[in-house]
Amino acid sequence: MDQFAYRKGELYCEDVRIADLAAEFGTPLWVYSRASLLGSFHEIRNAFAAAEPVICYSVKANSNLSILRLMNEAGSSFDVVSGGELFRVKQAGADTSRVAFAGVGKTDDEIRFGLESNILMFNVESEAELDAIAAVAGEMQRTAPVALRLNPNIDAKTHVKTTTGKKGNKFGMDIERAGQLADKVLADDRLSLIGIHMHLGSPILTTDPYARAVKKGVEVVQKFRDAGHDTNWINLGGGFGINYKQNEAPPAAAFAEVIVPAIREANCRLALEPGRSICGNAGVLISRTIFTKREGGRLFIIQDAAMNDLARPAMYDAFHRIWPVKPAVAAPEDFEAEISGCEPADVVGPVCESGDVLAKDRWLPETHRGDLICTFSAGAYGTTMSSNYNSRPRGAEVLVDGGEFRLIRRRETYEELVKNEVFD
Ligand SMILES: *Cc1c(COP(=O)(O)O)cnc(C)c1O
Repeated sequence: MDQFAYRKGELYCEDVRIADLAAEFGTPLWVYSRASLLGSFHEIRNAFAAAEPVICYSVKANSNLSILRLMNEAGSSFDVVSGGELFRVKQAGADTSRVAFAGVGKTDDEIRFGLESNILMFNVESEAELDAIAAVAGEMQRTAPVALRLNPNIDAKTHVKTTTGKKGNKFGMDIERAGQLADKVLADDRLSLIGIHMHLGSPILTTDPYARAVKKGVEVVQKFRDAGHDTNWINLGGGFGINYKQNEAPPAAAFAEVIVPAIREANCRLALEPGRSICGNAGVLISRTIFTKREGGRLFIIQDAAMNDLARPAMYDAFHRIWPVKPAVAAPEDFEAEISGCEPADVVGPVCESGDVLAKDRWLPETHRGDLICTFSAGAYGTTMSSNYNSRPRGAEVLVDGGEFRLIRRRETYEELVKNEVFD
């Protein structure tokens, strides 16, 4: 069920009026629904239940401590890609023994931090990294659990900047190299080859790439087992698409259908690293119209959220539904159709870049100074990719639960913008 819906002509999150939140906390404002976060997590867990997966919520999608705590309480573990993310998981009070640690450039300090935290697996992306992990584990007199990250050369048909499992990307290694590294691990008692890892890209809107990936994964695990490794984990990463528009993404059950039987047949343990599919549609970005202007034959709606807040449209040409919080006209089902009472507009921010556009050429109802606007599906890769570009303080974050809500991150102040600068 969509937790962001219009009732009597205005937008609510669960049972809370969005306009009330904007009045109390100001804009730009990120609003998350607890029911939606938990609902998506449970949908994935239930869909994959027959494989009893370890679900490692991908911290980089949304790393707010309150969201991490919620995920931990729901029974999720975590996928981290840096020491900073591992620190966040610990700050949130979560158990780190089921954490997966990915990333092509782990430093010795990060490797040490992972080993101290007794994580489940390092997703190893190169021979040099394997050597570094062995060296640090040796110093600590530990055995490091490693999963080799395969680049299965599968085109996940997503944006060039978000495809990660295709030949020529910086991620992972080809299957031949994985075989060579496996031989190396076998001869090294500082390392244990517990599994393989793949992350194909994001967002993925068909199940076929996963069907092919799991097939390749099972073959590789078989080879490792034949060579004498105790290899059980297949970590298929994240990447499950979500509905940014209408109903373009398959449900979790469709992904499970192509993954679970192969995992069970191979008698493997399954790990998943969903990020976007848990928090993407659980959050929105609320902004306020500053001005409108007509120039060069176009209507511009200039509002107070910008590319520094939500980078996805500028970075990936991503589509986000946008509609006023109290619209004069109800949105068409696809938020795009040319309907009467609307006209095409560009929704832009105040940042000094032509690319600072949240939506281009969108049919929107008449908008005035002060009107609140909602950018939907902003819960993933929103705040975590935000910056202070143009010295803009980052917005506040609020978590809604039924008729209640809680501030989970204060709006940044001007003082905080300069606090780390050494200036005397
Ligand atoms: C980003 C990332 C994920 C999460 O991807 P989503 O599309 O948010 O599900 C999972 N695993 C790894 C290794 C990643 O880099």
